Amino acid sequence: METGPLALLDRPEPEPGPGELLIRVLCCGVCRTDLHLAEGDLQPRRPDVTPGHEVVGEVMAAGPDSTRFTVGDRVGVAWLAGTDGSCRYCRRGSENLCPHSVYTGWDRDGGYAEYLVAADAYVHPLPSGFSNAELAPLLCAGIIGYRALKRAELPPGGRLGIWGFGGSAHLASQVAIAGGAAVHVFTRAPAARELALDLGVASAQDSFDPSPEPLDSAIIFAPVGDVVPPALRNLDRGGTLAIAGIYLTDIPALNYERELFQERTLRSVTSNTRGDAEEFLRLAERLRLKVSVTPYPLDAADQALTDLAADRVTGAAVLTVA
Ligand SMILES: [Zn+2]
Ligand SMILES: [Zn+2]
Repeated sequence: METGPLALLDRPEPEPGPGELLIRVLCCGVCRTDLHLAEGDLQPRRPDVTPGHEVVGEVMAAGPDSTRFTVGDRVGVAWLAGTDGSCRYCRRGSENLCPHSVYTGWDRDGGYAEYLVAADAYVHPLPSGFSNAELAPLLCAGIIGYRALKRAELPPGGRLGIWGFGGSAHLASQVAIAGGAAVHVFTRAPAARELALDLGVASAQDSFDPSPEPLDSAIIFAPVGDVVPPALRNLDRGGTLAIAGIYLTDIPALNYERELFQERTLRSVTSNTRGDAEEFLRLAERLRLKVSVTPYPLDAADQALTDLAADRVTGAAVLTVA
């Protein structure tokens, strides 16, 4: 972020094609993936692509064959922007693994903008009971955290460890607690530990502290491979560790006996399906999730990303556009 990779540009208002919607952005969440893209950990798929994939907006116009929404609807645009619908992964219900998938703010222009177009089939209706700013982090942080929770195979009433406590973790932990789990949080940021305890987690400690009890499941949200071995060591027999992020620094060498034997499982989380999104958004409404938001104006997007990089954002950063 020190080299200022973002530039504010004037572009013509985009036009919705067949099956697309023109959406006026009300606000857009700031996700760690945007930071990886800005800093080059993730290569952009298109030069000068507009980042942002937690978009809350209002439908302004519908292109031909776009039937799911009408003008004036408040909608959400998330990370998954399109798939081929025909490959072996799509056909078996794993559209998150589609090799031809495209993403908002990576392949297609995203929500760090006043307007964007999105494919109607990948746009989400939004739950009620949340402000626009509170809705934004649900759309990636929330959905990915929910998929990570599913991938971590947390048993009912189980013990869950969470490494890194930002936008995604603060939502996933509430879902886990609502399901009767004891949640233990590991993060270097004191303000994040405080937020975690306010939300009802069982304990909060530093990243490399030992867990107060063995864990059935664990999720790593921090993009830090160094925490993989300690997270695995804190798993109980048969436990599962899911890595939630799109990017992770290298994992140090693992010791089979200390870190994997006794049928401990290490797995990744790759994007999400539209089904995950629907399930999570319904759950968010039913559980009345508390969303912790730090707002920034659109032209302070670089400041929001800089703060995220320095662990200075508590909860989720959101750009308020309109
Ligand atoms: Zn596919
Ligand atoms: Zn994201």
